[in-house]
Amino acid sequence: MVVLNKRYSSREICEKLQILAKEYSDIAVYREIGASYDRRPIGMVRIGMGKPTLILTGGIHGRESVNPVILLHMLERYLQCFQEEEKFDGYDICELFVHTSLCVIPLLNPDGYEIAQKGFGQIHNPMLAQVCRMKRIPADQWKMNARAVDINRNFPCQSYIPATVDDFPASEKETRALMRIFEEYHTVGYVDFHSRGKIIYYYRRAKSYSFNTKSARIARRLKRLSGYTLGAPADEGNKLGDGGNSVQYYAEQFDHPALTVETLPDQAEFPLDCSYQREAYEEIRLVPLELLGVLTGEKKENIRKDV
Ligand SMILES: [Zn+2]
Repeated sequence: MVVLNKRYSSREICEKLQILAKEYSDIAVYREIGASYDRRPIGMVRIGMGKPTLILTGGIHGRESVNPVILLHMLERYLQCFQEEEKFDGYDICELFVHTSLCVIPLLNPDGYEIAQKGFGQIHNPMLAQVCRMKRIPADQWKMNARAVDINRNFPCQSYIPATVDDFPASEKETRALMRIFEEYHTVGYVDFHSRGKIIYYYRRAKSYSFNTKSARIARRLKRLSGYTLGAPADEGNKLGDGGNSVQYYAEQFDHPALTVETLPDQAEFPLDCSYQREAYEEIRLVPLELLGVLTGEKKENIRKDV
């Protein structure tokens, strides 16, 4: 069981993914999509039998420790409902996952997650630990990976800007692992979970008016489900150095909606208290189901009428 309001190490998160896939092997598959620089595995579970696939990622930023646990718990709840043939708050999970799939990567940056929770001593490779310490950022504020690169500024898209002269796009193993997943599956959309201010960002500057109109329509549905606000187009990647995000890359490359969902109140301080997990889970637990239904045109009865 994945209990909420509890701290999990990156190893425990990976082990739980494997246990869930074993326990629900008729619908779930575990896959190690890559490894971090400090050799921590990056795990993914795919749930569903249909080709159209929605990708979910969490924990791209090390210090955002709440979402990986929420995503793990959400995955377990979906699997339980599938096995019990129960509806999940009105959503017909069995029907939905016969025709579609969900790829859940709860923790894309396991090194950063360990640093933010337990300090730079968590990095086994002394050279990498030294590189991190030289940044002079307090460990509990750490967003980057073990090479001190922000993965969410590392994707090869129009807004990519190197942070230093040595930087180049997709330089990081974590970045490339996610890019491979985008390539390999028949994706219909992508959601990346972060933790700042209960906001949904949908606008993608590099994309057309019609692309953004469609994304806005979808985002409004998710706004009503979660109670979150919508990010204004002007706020999306507007500042210098904000580019190179996974969502921008995905939207440009695959031409499907790519949303950023920011959980947690704006004033939540790092290190994040794990007591935020329950509330944030309640807010976002329906988001992937609604999105899958909308993006695949899955049967109307699978989508709640009151949304
Ligand atoms: Zn973030």
